[in-house]
Order: sequence, then C-alpha cells, then structure tokens
Amino acid sequence: MITRHVFQTDLTLKKGDITEESTDAIVNAANEHLMHGGGVAYAIAKKAGSILEEESRGIGYVPTGSAAITSGGNLPAKYVIHAVGPVWRGGKSNEPQLLRSAIRSSLELAKKHELKSISFPAISTGIFGYPLKNAAREMLSETLQFLRENPGELKLVQFVLFTDLDFETFKQELVQLIPE
Ligand code: ADP
Repeated sequence: MITRHVFQTDLTLKKGDITEESTDAIVNAANEHLMHGGGVAYAIAKKAGSILEEESRGIGYVPTGSAAITSGGNLPAKYVIHAVGPVWRGGKSNEPQLLRSAIRSSLELAKKHELKSISFPAISTGIFGYPLKNAAREMLSETLQFLRENPGELKLVQFVLFTDLDFETFKQELVQLIPE
C-alpha cells in the first residue's frame, strides 16, 4: 500500500479485491449498457445481488466517459458508481479524454452525494484493452486535478489493483506524479 496526502485527501493505492472495500462507494468498470457480464463488473454485480441489476436496468444507457450511481446491495460499500471507460482503439479515438472524463464523472457523483471515500479499479485496462501504464497515468492525474479543484471534499480516494503488475505500474506513475 502507498498513500500520498494531497489537497486534504488521502490518495491511496492498494492491491486487492474491490468488492471487499468498505469505502462509501466502489467504482465499477462498466459498459454503456450496464450489462455486468464479465471482469470486475461481474464480480461486483454478483456480490451486490439483484438490487444492483434492477437499478442498472432502470438507468439503461450510460455513454462512454460518464458515470451513474446505484446502491451497493449486499456489498460492504453503500454505493456503486458505474464508470464507462473507453475501449482502446489504438489511441487516436479520444481514449485519454474519455478515460479522464469517466474518472471525473465518478468523482463528481461522489461529491454530489456527499460521499467521503471512494475506491476505483483499473478502468478500461482489462477487456477494454487500454495500455496499463497510460491508463494509470491518466486516471491518477485526473484524480489529482479533481482534488486540487475540490480540496477536502473527499477524505479518501483509493485505487484497488487486482494484480501485482497493476499495483506496481500504478505505483510507478504515482511516484512520478507526486515524488513526495
Ligand atoms: P474493462 O472492461 O473496463 O477493461 P475489466 O473488468 O475487464 O474492465 O478490467 C478492469 C480491471 O479490473 C482489470 O485490471 C482487472 O484485472 C480488474 N479486476 C478484475 N476483478 C477485480 C476485482 N475483484 N477487484 C479489483 N479489480 C478487479
């Protein structure tokens, strides 16, 4: 685990399973149809139970680069924020802007609902194919920008990384972004 205290918020990276996190919200790496069929989305939906599926159906469509919120059902987290990152199409289809926008939308939703803590997975880096290092850089720097503009709004923002490689890659990027 590694933490940087920035603009009155703890920005933390840890290795783990996001479905076990008890932050106010966990973020799901969703698709536009909120069909939670694979990857982290499946793990979250399965553990949350039918309420998450029902609320997702009620929301329907969420465009790439934005986010929607449902309750967390049986998860330790009270809410799930469904962020839709881009599918990687080679890097010339606005992927960085869309990924940053998915992060920004999630943080704005947390702020709107007066949440104090939020956990993100490595959005877009699984089935959606976004190169890990680039994705880590975009996600961390957009988070930092949000925290700069909203000091003290959130107490904890954490990235919960599933593999050693994900964790180490995020760590390298964080250390570059905030040397200490
Ligand atoms: P996407 O379709 O946005 O690429 P994926 O679910 O395929 O989303 O992958 C996103 C990331 O989530 C990957 O790094 C994957 O290893 C990770 N992941 C899978 N299961 C979990 C979990 N239970 N907790 C945290 N991260 C997870």
